[in-house]
Amino acid sequence: MDWETVIGLEVHCQLRTETKIFCGCPTRFGAAPNIQVCPICLGMPGVLPVLNRRAVDFALRAGLALGCAIQPLSVFARKNYFYPDLPKGYQISMFDQPLMTGGHLDIETQASGRKRVGLTRIHMEEDAGKLLHEGFSDSASKSYVDYNRSGTPLIEIVSEPDMRSAEEAHAYFTALRSLLVWIGVTDGNMEEGSLRCDANVSLRPRGQQAFGVKAELKNLNSFKFVQFAIEHEVRRQREILEAGGRVTQETRLYDPKQDRTVSMRSKEEAHDYRYFPEPDLPALRVDPDWIEAVRRDLPELPGARRARFVAEQGLKEQDAQVLAAERGLADYYEAVAAATGTPRTAAAWVLTEVLRKVKEAKIDIDAVPLEARRLGALLRLVDSGTISGAIAKGLFEELWSGGADPETLVRERGLTQVSDEGALGEAIEAVLAANPTQAASYRAGKTGVLGFLVGQVMKATQGKANPALVNRLLKERLDRS
Ligand SMILES: [Zn+2]
Repeated sequence: MDWETVIGLEVHCQLRTETKIFCGCPTRFGAAPNIQVCPICLGMPGVLPVLNRRAVDFALRAGLALGCAIQPLSVFARKNYFYPDLPKGYQISMFDQPLMTGGHLDIETQASGRKRVGLTRIHMEEDAGKLLHEGFSDSASKSYVDYNRSGTPLIEIVSEPDMRSAEEAHAYFTALRSLLVWIGVTDGNMEEGSLRCDANVSLRPRGQQAFGVKAELKNLNSFKFVQFAIEHEVRRQREILEAGGRVTQETRLYDPKQDRTVSMRSKEEAHDYRYFPEPDLPALRVDPDWIEAVRRDLPELPGARRARFVAEQGLKEQDAQVLAAERGLADYYEAVAAATGTPRTAAAWVLTEVLRKVKEAKIDIDAVPLEARRLGALLRLVDSGTISGAIAKGLFEELWSGGADPETLVRERGLTQVSDEGALGEAIEAVLAANPTQAASYRAGKTGVLGFLVGQVMKATQGKANPALVNRLLKERLDRS
């Protein structure tokens, strides 16, 4: 049987507000347990939540960037369930009247190329606290609970079941994180739980319209786990179906150590949560002026920026795609391009030299010590023919961490490119005299040795010779005799 995989993702994203969604407690990660709490986020009786306007701004920002329809009226609801990390006994979320509906995200994979994944909805809710099962002397017998996280604002982004492979789910989650970080609504830090993903996975015979029974994989907190957990789950369901069995609708957890998923509980239905509208919060009304204000504040989005890099700056599609994958990188490249005046030179250097150093130093692009202005100045010297590319590469290493100014270094050290035919002629004669065998084999038709001879001239001039000119002069000289 040929099975088709059907995947939908639900991504929880912590919004980067200073304070919680319904109280003034800070949201800072890593504080000592239970110090960022108050009667409201601890769910004491009689307290009243007040919605954080900034959290709504961030939610709207995400919705606009993802092409959602913003609902003029949405309603917070109580989702009732008991768990020790939820002191109120209910979570304030949105149910049948979410803030945003529809929308889409474009992804790209090796196997299926470019593809649009639809969104069902985005709603706002509060995060729960965190259970601590490890790290205490009595952890073997006790668990502790930290409520610092309870009340942190979240958006839940629910996709349509549009993905057909673990690779597509991985691409979707990656592209979604990149966009949310790009527009500044989250820090996107997966280790700290700022972004968490649940995956609904089912199989159906290819060609069948109706969906199969799905299992929900909970709390996939890394890109790798999303892919591995789905791959495992697809194998598990296929084995059950091919043996004539039935998949049970349930929630499963992925165990990365054993690379398998294990059953956690049978899946609740919405009615198990006994949702009802939150009586302590008015309905959320978002008027067109508010939406427009958020829209005006949105930065240029990655897709538009990539297109502009190609259309206006003449970059290759593939280069534009890498440069526009991350906002910090796109900003850095554009600043270098502006300082250089030639986008293609700037792109070539940022994509090779700068990204190589960033990788070696294991730093963020935002932490690059070489300012775009100084790299731009260096590249102007190359473009104008003042220094050779070889000299520029050497200087780049030095400029990377030091604060020197490229023009000053070139002047002080006399690194200006030699384009004087007389001076180069002398160097060429000396190289030919020192390498008679190579000169002879060039004349015998082995033109490949020209590169070696050019290299020797470059070496003799400490890299200062104009390589294009050396090339031409050498050829002329060798063809002459
Ligand atoms: Zn609080």
